[in-house]
Amino acid sequence: MITDRVWRSQQWKRTLGFSPDEMPDADQPWSIVHPSDRKIIDSAMRRILAGEDKSFEATYRLRHKDGSWRWILSRGKVIAETSDGRPARMLATSTDITRQKEIEQELEAVIRQRRLLEHDLVLANRRLKMLAEIDSLTELPNRRKFDRVLDREFRRMRRTRPVLALLMIDIDHFKRYNDLYGHPAGDECLRLVAETLQHVARPSRDVVTRYGGEEFATILIDTNPDDAASMARALQGTIRELAIPHEGSPQGRITISIGYTFLTPQKRAPWCTPQRLIEAADRALYAAKEAGRDHIGFAGIEADGSIQIVVTNHQMDAPPAEIAR
Ligand code: GH3
Ligand code: MG
Ligand code: MG
Repeated sequence: MITDRVWRSQQWKRTLGFSPDEMPDADQPWSIVHPSDRKIIDSAMRRILAGEDKSFEATYRLRHKDGSWRWILSRGKVIAETSDGRPARMLATSTDITRQKEIEQELEAVIRQRRLLEHDLVLANRRLKMLAEIDSLTELPNRRKFDRVLDREFRRMRRTRPVLALLMIDIDHFKRYNDLYGHPAGDECLRLVAETLQHVARPSRDVVTRYGGEEFATILIDTNPDDAASMARALQGTIRELAIPHEGSPQGRITISIGYTFLTPQKRAPWCTPQRLIEAADRALYAAKEAGRDHIGFAGIEADGSIQIVVTNHQMDAPPAEIAR
């Protein structure tokens, strides 16, 4: 016989803060289910009543007498059926799992918090790494970054065969500049030269770095011999046009000397290393200084690894790369 009646055990009532004679058994049983969880119970009951399931398991919240919500785990099964196979009686046990749920939620919050911290840590590490590769005075990439980029471009060159050029740039008579105008003025001059070099370089393909002291190194990625020569002249010309007064220089202004070299894919040989490229550009820079400063030295690397130096200045027309070929 179907009576639509629901019996509650004393234990069940105690769990929800009621005395045994409170909440008459026939009370509407779902009124104390949390509104967000009603569909869980509804669908479980619908399947039982439709004969699709003979048992159920559900987790949901019930309202305690004091108004708080308790997490309940219910497991039930049909224990008697009508003659035509419909469920007539069900037996269900309910367990208060509020504490487990709270622990679960606390754990989830801790995990969420940990993920956020990990994310912050990754960002902080990235920033730290970036700062470790930036020169604080000029805000240009520093020597450490230069080494990393040159190594990377060397490896890439072996795969994709572009032309790689290296320019070593040194401010002329800078010691005298410091002596004449003071160290803070020297710093300001370094900042201005750095900013100007950066401005003339091609964005994203040229890497201008502070190599050390008043020396800058620029890596030209994916270039060609003529463009490398033009870049050297453009950098030198723009610094000259800045016309930063320098009484201690024969030019009366700040000038730079440049030594540069490049590697073409044809010149890939055992001697072809980043160190060799730096050495060649350094020798060209030294030759430019020897020629009176404010000059450009070009180091042509021959197929056998030997180095030929040619020096020009801005009053000479022929591009050094042409002469060296
Ligand atoms: P040259 O034309 O041969 O390059 O002569 P130079 O005087 O420029 O070269 P030298 O190597 O004799 O002196 C470099 C000077 O650069 C000395 C040093 O005090 C100065 N210098 C290096 N780093 C800094 C810096 O961060 N700030 C300032 N103000 N000066 C610096
Ligand atoms: Mg110098
Ligand atoms: Mg120097």
